[in-house]
Amino acid sequence: MLENRVNKQILKERIKYEAFSRKTLSFYKYVNIENPVEFRNRLFSEWSELDCFGRIYIAREGINAQMSVPEHNLGRFLLHLYSLPELTGVPIKYAIVDDGKSFYKLTIKVRPKIVADGLEYGSYDLSKVGTHLSALEFHELSAQPETLVIDMRNHYESEIGRFENAVCPDADTFKDAIQMVINEFETQKDRKILLYCTGGIRCEKASSFLIHNGFKDVSQLYGGIIEYAQQIKLLGLQSKFIGKNFVFDERLGETIDGQVISHCHQCGKAADIHVNCANDDCHLLFIQCAACAEKYEKCCSEECSGIIHLPIEARRQLRITNHKKYEGSKIYKSKLSPFLLDRNLNLEQKMSING
Ligand SMILES: [Zn+2]
Ligand SMILES: [Zn+2]
Repeated sequence: MLENRVNKQILKERIKYEAFSRKTLSFYKYVNIENPVEFRNRLFSEWSELDCFGRIYIAREGINAQMSVPEHNLGRFLLHLYSLPELTGVPIKYAIVDDGKSFYKLTIKVRPKIVADGLEYGSYDLSKVGTHLSALEFHELSAQPETLVIDMRNHYESEIGRFENAVCPDADTFKDAIQMVINEFETQKDRKILLYCTGGIRCEKASSFLIHNGFKDVSQLYGGIIEYAQQIKLLGLQSKFIGKNFVFDERLGETIDGQVISHCHQCGKAADIHVNCANDDCHLLFIQCAACAEKYEKCCSEECSGIIHLPIEARRQLRITNHKKYEGSKIYKSKLSPFLLDRNLNLEQKMSING
């Protein structure tokens, strides 16, 4: 544990002094991968050679990758990627706000699924997914009053940024979000449904599952908020996404329209920076403003900022005693900011009861 921690710091430090710059990119594809372990090993050896960093998941159902690639190796990386029959022509999304410090090592894991959905095989069909929408099409459809815009992400993601008028389930996981949406809109299967998520990967599954459950008119934002941000920039459109897009790397978010819609979980002031508590045994994910970061030394509480100054032996002892306490949810449940907009108040009430 300690060794990991030290390594992590060294690795983070090392990337600061790299003499080249990196591009942050992501891609995913639902595709049948016959032998995920063999595929993983092939990618790992090639991408290590190219000094790529990132977090990549491989399953029989496909691949989901968030990466940083040295700019001078980008051409070779793409050439290799597209030479793989499984990944030929896979669309790649580049980050808009990119300091290249998104990852500091290469991790490729084989998982049962690339997106944990809690759904049984056969309860959806990925060849039948919602209609893909461009940013412009999304604007047109979401402006129609009968359209239901649904955020398929978790509560800590929609807390810092979301589309105007979106329904945001108070869900800790994608699995919960899917169930909440199915339960809530059971009786509204004829409505026009418009889904969105970070990069589109969750909506492929969610839309497929909704269709399988009898929803008639399901569309999804193609490429998610990441692609949306690129398109509105290119077309010079006014953003209908307010706030920040939560991303799963060291940056933990990229600003879309510059607005801050969330609050510091410690003092309540406007803030949209997610951090993990500096007490590694706590590691709580929460929003912290700069003043509180200083006051609490990047910890979630006075208790944790006290703990980080204890000698290692005392911390180890504390870890054993507090073991139970630190288990379970490590995500702060905000009570300060409204999760759902007014017109969805009933849903909010209902969802908070459902927990
Ligand atoms: Zn604060
Ligand atoms: Zn803490």
